[in-house]
Formats: sequence, structure tokens, C-alpha cells
Amino acid sequence: MPSLADVVDLLHTWYPPGTALDGDAVGLVAGEPSAEVSKVMLAVDPTVEVAREAVEWGADLLVVHHPLFLTPVSSVAATTPKGRTLHTLTSGGCALLTAHTNADQAESGVSEALALALGLRDLAPIRPASAGAATGTGRAGTVEPTTLAGFAQRVASALPATAHGVRVAGDPDRVVRRVAVCGGAGDFLLDELVGSDVDVYLTSDLRHHRAGEFLEHGGPALVDVAHWAAEWTWLPVVEARLHEAMGDRVGTRVSTQCTDPWSSRY
Ligand SMILES: [Zn+2]
Repeated sequence: MPSLADVVDLLHTWYPPGTALDGDAVGLVAGEPSAEVSKVMLAVDPTVEVAREAVEWGADLLVVHHPLFLTPVSSVAATTPKGRTLHTLTSGGCALLTAHTNADQAESGVSEALALALGLRDLAPIRPASAGAATGTGRAGTVEPTTLAGFAQRVASALPATAHGVRVAGDPDRVVRRVAVCGGAGDFLLDELVGSDVDVYLTSDLRHHRAGEFLEHGGPALVDVAHWAAEWTWLPVVEARLHEAMGDRVGTRVSTQCTDPWSSRY
């Protein structure tokens, strides 16, 4: 049976912590490296409900995308939500590892997983890590020609359902061939996409003024999806890689608990 250190090494080979952005907090958060790992659960957010799911299932390791601790804390007592998550995991014998911005840019990373889940082909990073690199920020690719409405329907059926749904800004009849995507809050890429050849840019957490001003340039349409749903597409990719690398020695589970904060729509 692999040790926690073995599984961490594997994940860090795929998603090197050194590629995380400055100020991010990635890697092993809790756990004894020599402990044996037979079950790994994957989730986007380390909420207490996700921690309970991991422990009830008997996970030895919970791999999450979003950091539990991004800013310094002076207490991890179970009197706070983050402390409760940590106590739930450690008292249940479950380690915690974060792969955040180091997973965003990588091959088989978050943006690539999102692009592939939506059926994009001929992928290239929107902002390559270096000239010609396959790694980098966001992904652009092609789809069979469709309309913006048709593309949005494909997105809605490809992503897990959320109350947020799929929001579209642009002419529903517009032809879509070139698509750019970025997992997470991708408004920082708007400036470089404004004059690009893409027909639509899909990301999360777009705000009124930035979206409105972007559309005034007559460039790509916008599709705004739930942050959790977009990044969830990465979890089955990691699960498949773990199976490939470790076979039956490690059992895996992808949490389907929706941890998007927007839970209802009226
Ligand atoms: Zn995110």
C-alpha cells in the first residue's frame, strides 16, 4: 500500500508546487507522511461537509483545489469553520492536500480539464507559461461550429448542475467556433481576449462593469458558469491519473457535493 508521501510525490510531480502563484498556499496541509493511504477523495472546496464525507467514506487523504488556509491564522480550534474542517479530518485519520494555482496551469490541470469536458479540441494556453509551452493560463480551442445558444446548452449538459446555471452575454445566434476557457475567476484575462479570434470566453465570477465594457468592443461573447462547476471538471481527471498510476492499490472517490455558495435561484 502506498504511503501518504508516495501519493503526495505523485501529485506534486503532476502539479509541481513550485509552479503555484506567489502568495498561494499549496501542498500537504495535514497528515503523517509515513501513514498508509488506501482511499483518496477529491473535492473542490475543503468545507466541513466535504470533510465529513471524506471521513465517513474512510478516506486517508482528501485532495482539494481551494486552500483551507490562504492567510495566516493564530488558531485552528474547532470553534471556527476552518478549524472544524481540520479537526474533522485529523480526528478521522484523513490527510489534506491542496493543489490550487499549481493545478490551474498544468497539463491535465483545471483549465485543460474544463476545455476537454466542453469538447474543445486543438488546445493551447491563452497565456503560455513560456513560448510554445503546453502549460499556462486558460485554454483556447475549437468546437464544431454551433450557435452561442447551442454552445451554452452543451456547457449546461457537460457541467454538474448548479443554482447559478450558465449565464450568457451576447447574441444567441452568433456562430461559435473558437472558444477560450479559464477555470476559476478569469476576468484577469479579459484584456488580452478582447481583440482575439475567439468567439466566446467562458469563465466564472464575471462582474457587471468588466463584462459590460468587454462586450462594448464587439469581441467575444461571454459565458459565466459556477466557479465550483468549472473546477469540478478537474477532479475526474485526477481520479483517472491516480488509477493509472496506482491501479487497485488506491480507491478513489470524487465528491459530488455542490459547494458553490449560490444554492438557490428564484
Ligand atoms: Zn477556484
